[in-house]
Amino acid sequence: MAVRASSEGAAAAADPEGAPPLEVSDSFEEFARAPSLEAVDRLARAVLADATWPTVRAWNRSGRSAVGCFPVYTPQELIHAMGMLPVALHGGGETIEISHADAALGSFLCSISKSTLEMGLTGRLAPFRAFVFPYICDVSRNLEGIFPRAVPGAATHMLHLPQNFRSAATVPFLVAEYRRLLRVLESAGGSPYRPDRLADSIELFNRQRAEIARWTEIKRRDPSRISLTESYLVRRLGGLLPREVHLELLRRMRAAVEDRVPRPKDSVRVLLVGSFCEQPTLDLLDLLEQVGCYVVDDELLQLYRWHPAVDPTGDPLENLARAYVESPLDIGVRATPTTKGEAILGRVAAAGAQAVLFLTAKFCEPALEDIVLYRAALDREKIPSLHLEFEERSSALDQSRLQLETFVESILFA
Ligand code: SF4
Repeated sequence: MAVRASSEGAAAAADPEGAPPLEVSDSFEEFARAPSLEAVDRLARAVLADATWPTVRAWNRSGRSAVGCFPVYTPQELIHAMGMLPVALHGGGETIEISHADAALGSFLCSISKSTLEMGLTGRLAPFRAFVFPYICDVSRNLEGIFPRAVPGAATHMLHLPQNFRSAATVPFLVAEYRRLLRVLESAGGSPYRPDRLADSIELFNRQRAEIARWTEIKRRDPSRISLTESYLVRRLGGLLPREVHLELLRRMRAAVEDRVPRPKDSVRVLLVGSFCEQPTLDLLDLLEQVGCYVVDDELLQLYRWHPAVDPTGDPLENLARAYVESPLDIGVRATPTTKGEAILGRVAAAGAQAVLFLTAKFCEPALEDIVLYRAALDREKIPSLHLEFEERSSALDQSRLQLETFVESILFA
């Protein structure tokens, strides 16, 4: 594996908890040229286990800037078009011990808010020049308010996304919001905005989304060909690497997946709902398949599947806004003009799922609010469902295993 521990720059990159920082090459060649899916899996796990952002430090070495994007949606094409690296902030996962953030945030809040603030308070977010927080919930709004004090040298921006998709004023409102974001990025070291560069970035991100859609289709069609964690880790790298590198990796690894011989097992086809912001641990994702669930569609890392494609011709800023507004996506932080019941039944049918697993972050109100409506529709159609909660650092999975095994058996042996 090309990633290695290094003492170079350790003072700048040192993890306050003492783990040695990893070093990746400036060209990210080890990712683009990884020989197998197993090698990519190892690389991704090594990067995620390092709280000092090794891919961001590699990007910064040539004098470029990175922008951290809190879930769920930021128009990352804008950041890319200004010569900056958009990086998905998905909290600290299992790597961060909370010792400072508890003093600033209440106890009954999701783990991602605490671990993100902890990273800021302990200097781990030093590689970033700016942060974007979409207004998805009160927690993200409050985090944005605290962040300038946690990371004083970086710009912090709250992105207001529309909730009314029927008004003629919605697209102009979002274009104005994107222009506000552009000004922040320019002042944080981004190149001046140019529509032709944004059009190029839109085309690149369209190719990345199209490739991710192919991966999703493989998992839906033939779920034994690739495990959930393999598919997840490959997608997760999409928010950590330069997009050109990620696109190359996706293409090469898809060919490897399609060469595999499928080995189907007796499993239940499951739609995974509710993990659109804070992410479950890899052990929990592994557990789902161990107990007999084929996750044939999910809301993990939803950003890469928000809308299928953005028109790069004409006014690219308006097209980017229009693609967001016209997306049919219906998840907890976005209300579309469909009803929640119609939305969940449509997704179950499209995925060919037999059951729905609600996997929600503890204390995540946007995810919890919809479950009652979803469940009413599923119960009416006699589609089984189960709700589990998780936290970033919850390692005890015995209770979840028991619930999942009972759920799977009740479907397989019904
Ligand atoms: S996990 Fe839920 S409550 Fe927490 S920041 Fe994300 S959407 Fe908001």
